[in-house]
Amino acid sequence: MARLLRCFRPFGATKFLLFGLLALVCARPVAASTLYVQPVQVCETATTCADSTSQLYEAITEAIWAQAGIDIVFLDDWITITNTSLYSVGNSADTETIFSDSLVRTPSYTIAMWFVDSITYCGGTVTAYGCSVIGGDDVIISDLIFSDSRTDTIAHELGHILGLSDCCSSSTFDLMNGSGSRTNPTTVADVSPSGKNLDQLTTAEISVAKTSSLLEATPEPGTALLLLSGLPVLYWMRRRIYLRRGDRASVRAGL
Ligand SMILES: [Zn+2]
Repeated sequence: MARLLRCFRPFGATKFLLFGLLALVCARPVAASTLYVQPVQVCETATTCADSTSQLYEAITEAIWAQAGIDIVFLDDWITITNTSLYSVGNSADTETIFSDSLVRTPSYTIAMWFVDSITYCGGTVTAYGCSVIGGDDVIISDLIFSDSRTDTIAHELGHILGLSDCCSSSTFDLMNGSGSRTNPTTVADVSPSGKNLDQLTTAEISVAKTSSLLEATPEPGTALLLLSGLPVLYWMRRRIYLRRGDRASVRAGL
């Protein structure tokens, strides 16, 4: 290392720092982000609970949001709540109870995903796979997604949480289209940009989602590491400069 550092002396400290800064800017990767999700299992009784097998369609959900550079992290420790009324979300009082919950979130920007048996009210009387508020921090998911194999509903509702509205596009390939006009992937291999290219996010949708205050920036490679990765290049450049100087000196000396 001492030998390497000596090599930069002819470069000058200012030039070295400027070059390092330039290298950093050029090499800086696209920032990734993380959304933490706390699963909440709602039970009717001590033995009858929604999402009884703790399914999350995790692989497909993560693949969909990877398009935006957003990691979805489901917390391992589920919260279980026994509440007969919330087990079947059927009126505004139920949704209000959930959307104004006082669950302790760790980290504080973690969102809560409530798994219930059924949803028959979501801002109006309707049978729904999922229910959420745009920009909110609670999602309600019905067991209906498992019986109907709606593998991308969780990702769609997370889109609402991250600030996206339902899409007005007629494309069946867009994640934010309503469930009735969206093609549902049966395998993670068909999630955009792979396979059948399903559940796409537009550039505009990605821009909106990435500004959500619910996202935690994923630590990028350390600055020192990036600088060190540029050291061999600087060393090579310095050697080239010296070699050229040596060649000119040799010509002047007629050697
Ligand atoms: Zn929607």
